[in-house]
Amino acid sequence: GPSPLWLDATGRRLPGPLYPGFDTLGTLEYLRTTGYDHSWFVLTRRIIAREFALSGSEQNPDLTGRDRKAMITSRLGGQVPGPVQAFLDHGEDFVTAGTLPELVSQMNKLTGGDPHLDADRIEEQITARDRDATRPFGKDSQLMAVRGARRYIGDRLIRVARPHALLDPAAGPLIAVRLHVLTRKTLGGLHTDLSSRALGASGEPVPGLYAAGEAAGFGGGGMHGYRSLEGTFLGGCLFSGRIAGRAAAAATA
Ligand SMILES: Cc1cc2nc3c(=O)[nH]c(=O)nc-3n(C[C@H](O)[C@H](O)[C@H](O)COP(=O)(O)OP(=O)(O)OC[C@H]3O[C@@H](n4cnc5c(N)ncnc54)[C@H](O)[C@@H]3O)c2cc1C
Repeated sequence: GPSPLWLDATGRRLPGPLYPGFDTLGTLEYLRTTGYDHSWFVLTRRIIAREFALSGSEQNPDLTGRDRKAMITSRLGGQVPGPVQAFLDHGEDFVTAGTLPELVSQMNKLTGGDPHLDADRIEEQITARDRDATRPFGKDSQLMAVRGARRYIGDRLIRVARPHALLDPAAGPLIAVRLHVLTRKTLGGLHTDLSSRALGASGEPVPGLYAAGEAAGFGGGGMHGYRSLEGTFLGGCLFSGRIAGRAAAAATA
């Protein structure tokens, strides 16, 4: 979801437009300049209930089991879904606290204070963000994007939390999640031409060989641009597969 405040390992908010789910490559480039392998999401229970879901349909029993009651109580009713609650209870990268100083102290404990996070500096950034969350004319561009997402009814109902002050105790407790960089995509793959024909080292098509989907680098990089926008992978895979199928059929006709 788009609402957590994203801090680098030293406690500085990531610059726009590096918000959750926005620009994977840009965020990665930025995070690699900090000298640390981790960064932080700071959010509230209200945000985690609405915006955290485990990737993969089998991890969302209310959706896959078509369990309307569970869906209403969790996704609409503000309860944290079971699989997400399990991370809150047992996840080694999750910390929860009633107040910000307590939360920052737990974050420092988790990393052994390397680097030391300054609670006052984090509070300053959260307070600035919170002012824009509670007035309708705020200029915080992340909150503007959150409001934009909520103009779509599906997102407003079950995916994007209503903007609120992170320090509002009614939305709490506060949560911090330590994030690690991991490789989920290569954004590479076999070089192809516009007919999905695989190209050899010389740049010429290899006779009879086609490549599509992830194998051809279409899971993110490619038809939707190089910045790997979340949620656009499957389309490029299907589209390049269709082109490959048609080209192969035409070649054998
Ligand atoms: C957890 C997760 C969540 C995702 N969420 C989204 C999302 O919300 N939106 C989105 O657009 N995309 C999403 N994606 C990405 C998207 O699902 C993939 O990019 C897409 O499914 C890849 O399709 P593909 O056919 O290219 O490859 P795959 O689906 O990986 O198919 C490759 C197939 O080849 C088979 N195979 C491998 N080796 C061999 C072999 N030697 N012989 C025979 N068969 C073999 C494999 O078993 C597999 O079935 C997600 C991916 C993951 C992992």
